[in-house]
Amino acid sequence: MTTPTISPYLKDGVELDQIIVQGIRVTAFHGVYQPEKESGQLFLADVVAHVSTRSAASKDDLAKTVNYSDIADRAAEVLGGDPNDLLETVAEHIARAILEMEGVHCVDVVVHKPQAPLHVEFRDVMVKIRRDLRSGALWADKRIGSSAGLSGDPFAPRVHSDDPADNPPVQPVVAYLALGGNVGDVDTTFREALWELHRIPGIMVQRASSLFRTRPVGGPDQDDFLNAVVEIMTAMAPRELLAACQGIEVLHGRERHVENGPRTLDLDILAYGDRAFAAEDLVVPHPRATERAFVLQPWATLAPHYDVPGAGTVESLATAVGTEGVELVQAQWPAQQ
Ligand code: ADP
Ligand code: MG
Repeated sequence: MTTPTISPYLKDGVELDQIIVQGIRVTAFHGVYQPEKESGQLFLADVVAHVSTRSAASKDDLAKTVNYSDIADRAAEVLGGDPNDLLETVAEHIARAILEMEGVHCVDVVVHKPQAPLHVEFRDVMVKIRRDLRSGALWADKRIGSSAGLSGDPFAPRVHSDDPADNPPVQPVVAYLALGGNVGDVDTTFREALWELHRIPGIMVQRASSLFRTRPVGGPDQDDFLNAVVEIMTAMAPRELLAACQGIEVLHGRERHVENGPRTLDLDILAYGDRAFAAEDLVVPHPRATERAFVLQPWATLAPHYDVPGAGTVESLATAVGTEGVELVQAQWPAQQ
């Protein structure tokens, strides 16, 4: 049984390492025809997980890497699990199970069906797919996106759109994101959100502001918020970045019931390079950011000299708005645990 060659996967220009499990073998009941559903036949899967293994290898620490035994178990469970008509569906479900593993950025899955009912002599039938973590696609509605055609794919054609919100930058740009929340363990939610952002191809989290506790502005009577601001480099178009942020909000169970109401996580785009535009779903720089102490005070600890397009430096805006209702919780955040 041969396996097609697997091309390298690049995350932010760096080729990731591969953990490969080949020839996972089960009897299962996938197929379109009745006899296939009744008697079953042999199926095999090869899985290539694209991961970063450097920190695990340098410390020889299993906890820091993706465990190949887990990969095999997850793939075998799907392969031998509920029957599907199509090999494509089986491959998709395996990809999904592997992508849920911490540290996996991309996965190649090959599903073989060497006893498929064909009218000719043949050696093997296989379906090969590649899936990776993508903004919007994976995060926004928890689906899995294909690696073709989206930003982060170095071979994707760059299409110019008239809508500035859809235009990716020529080179990665600096953008600022605001984090806010007042439900659950917000500090932990923030830390997780930083990792989730960083895992998305096209986003590199660079630095974080100090952490602040703030009194709610507007909305119902509710608990104090935690707020912070992070600096990222991104190759994503602004709207793609918004989809990524909203997807991470959804991942943390954000539900929008009341305007300005309690939330586990709010992730807003404060600014994106030197761009300024107002689309229906996305206004950059964030229109209310330049008036809010709970955004400006954290932001000023991170990028006081950044010139907010059309508004002035963060520092000057922060001074103008003052520190009313805003209290420093942790200057060095997120600190080493
Ligand atoms: P909040 O104003 O409290 O952040 P939401 O997070 O529910 O409320 O956002 C409401 C809408 O604001 C989103 O659906 C989004 O389309 C829109 N929006 C406009 N500009 C921005 C921005 N710069 N960052 C995030 N969301 C934005
Ligand atoms: Mg928001």
